[in-house]
Amino acid sequence: SKKQRLDKILSNMGYGSRKEIKSIIKDGRVKVDGITINSNKIKVDPYKAEIEIDGEIVRYREYIYIMMNKPNGVVSSTDDPLNKTVIDIIEGKYRIFNPFPIGRLDKDTEGLLVISNDGKLAHQLLSPKKHVDKTYYVEVEGMVEDNHIREFEKGIELEDGYKTMPAELEILSSGPISKVNLTIKEGKYHQVKRMFKALGMKVVYLKRISMGKLRLDETLELGEYRELTDDELELLK
Ligand code: URA
Repeated sequence: SKKQRLDKILSNMGYGSRKEIKSIIKDGRVKVDGITINSNKIKVDPYKAEIEIDGEIVRYREYIYIMMNKPNGVVSSTDDPLNKTVIDIIEGKYRIFNPFPIGRLDKDTEGLLVISNDGKLAHQLLSPKKHVDKTYYVEVEGMVEDNHIREFEKGIELEDGYKTMPAELEILSSGPISKVNLTIKEGKYHQVKRMFKALGMKVVYLKRISMGKLRLDETLELGEYRELTDDELELLK
């Protein structure tokens, strides 16, 4: 078992500084396995002990996993001198875990963003070798037609000469502004926008709707977020 000091566990979880936790314990507000604790120095196994603060059971965890419906105008990095970041818009009780966005969306791209402090999961999802599918809903200026399906399947040569991996295009509607779903297996800078640009079309709206098997919860408004369910997390792993 991995025992740690109770005050350390609770402060890591965001219940206050070590000093604050010490006084919470001194005030008799903390129980371990049903017994009120009076020393902040006791060591417990956070995964096994039942810790209560003010009668509420504290669920210990090391990792957090959040799904956000990223709004336009917010950057997907942890800090930025000029712009609001996706981390700025989540609550402090999550920020204390030092989460970061798993993958980038452009400032003007909306939709599914997973925010976590799990570096291993990040690697699994982002490693170029893993080819995790990302599906985007795209509105483009220009007529997307059936022949484009084959173009995306073959791979598209971007302006810098890079040829993209096979991508799957699903046409939802075709017109002066066409609506499509596009699934890509890479994550090159501005990739979706550049793929359409290479075909002479301009992306006017972009939203990620899935990553791997995880789909955006469409009940989340722009800028809203929630923790992933256990089932959703399984889908990502
Ligand atoms: N492709 C883009 O061009 N932008 C994004 O934000 C994501 C994929």
